[in-house]
Amino acid sequence: MNPKIWLSSPHMGTLEQQYVEEAFATNWIAPLGPHVDGFEHDLASYTGMPHAAALSSGTSALHLALILLGVERGDEVLCQSMTFSASANPIVYQGATPVFVDSEAETWNLNPELLEEAIRDRLAKVGRVPSAVIGVHLYGMPAQWERIRQVCQRHGIPLIEDAAEALGSTYRGQACGSLGDLNILSFNGNKIITTSGGGALLSSNAEWIHKARFLATQARDAAPHYQHSSIGYNYRMSNVLAGIGRGQMQVLNDRVQARRRNFEYYQANLGDLPGIAWQPESEGSFSNRWLTCLTLDPTVSGGLTREDLRMELEKDNIESRPLWKPMHLQPVFVDAPFYGDGTSQKLFEQGLCLPSGSNLTQEDLDRVIQRMRSLF
Ligand SMILES: *Cc1c(COP(=O)(O)O)cnc(C)c1O
Repeated sequence: MNPKIWLSSPHMGTLEQQYVEEAFATNWIAPLGPHVDGFEHDLASYTGMPHAAALSSGTSALHLALILLGVERGDEVLCQSMTFSASANPIVYQGATPVFVDSEAETWNLNPELLEEAIRDRLAKVGRVPSAVIGVHLYGMPAQWERIRQVCQRHGIPLIEDAAEALGSTYRGQACGSLGDLNILSFNGNKIITTSGGGALLSSNAEWIHKARFLATQARDAAPHYQHSSIGYNYRMSNVLAGIGRGQMQVLNDRVQARRRNFEYYQANLGDLPGIAWQPESEGSFSNRWLTCLTLDPTVSGGLTREDLRMELEKDNIESRPLWKPMHLQPVFVDAPFYGDGTSQKLFEQGLCLPSGSNLTQEDLDRVIQRMRSLF
């Protein structure tokens, strides 16, 4: 059996371990400390956001974003349907109702026209507009953000940017992670950089980030004893893991380049196969190409489906994965309202993510390509 080729595995640089050892040497083994401060500083300066809070996960960052916006029981929150479930779950943690909106075919992200339609329809049906909008940059590809922002602005709805997959991407020259009212990042093990598990909340609003840190440390009031005037959470990032994050930030741009090279190599060596198309990069957008994603149209490929492709790769110990199954098709969200035109369902049915790690070797890439070509 050939060695396993993973979809997207962690890729450490040279300084991570040194930072972790420093945490040990100074005994900062806690959910606070100099690495947490340093990592927050690195994230803020990289994205151009004045304020960042390092947290235990991207999911907790999204949860805090909703709390900061006052989302509560009975509210509705609009969310891109085609995404990882972590984008939507925190809406339910707050007792609110997710309302899902379909993607457009150009970037695979939130369709601004359907977003507008959804807002108008919710206003007509429930008498008020939703409390927030959550937009995602799938696989690192920036959404049509300016149009999304305009729709939100027109209706006075705050916009949360789920940039969990898009650190290192830019939109019209601005870093993803700096485009919303509140912005979240993830450093889970499969993301472009990782702290093994972790996340961050970023904003230009200092008060929000201050309050996020407060809520993330059990909402402890300023008193010598433990006193609480609100419900808190244990959502801070460990100083040990923040040390990994600081090391990873030093190689982030290299990781982006490596992933973009993967994409270009796949495209150059598979682009002629019938029925294959790639996630497009729009004018003015720069994707980190976190994952290289393709669609395979069986009416053009002679009947070959993305499942045929996936299983063929699996036979050679190569991990690939269907695109995110949209939330409106998930059993857990069957009752949630949905505004769509079938775009994300079609992407899900035809889409596949190829091995995309920044640590893939030339032989790895060639093995994937050869295996795929052999099936055609
Ligand atoms: C990974 C991811 C998250 C959640 O991040 P965690 O750190 O795993 O909690 C949220 N949204 C999207 C789109 C993601 O890919």
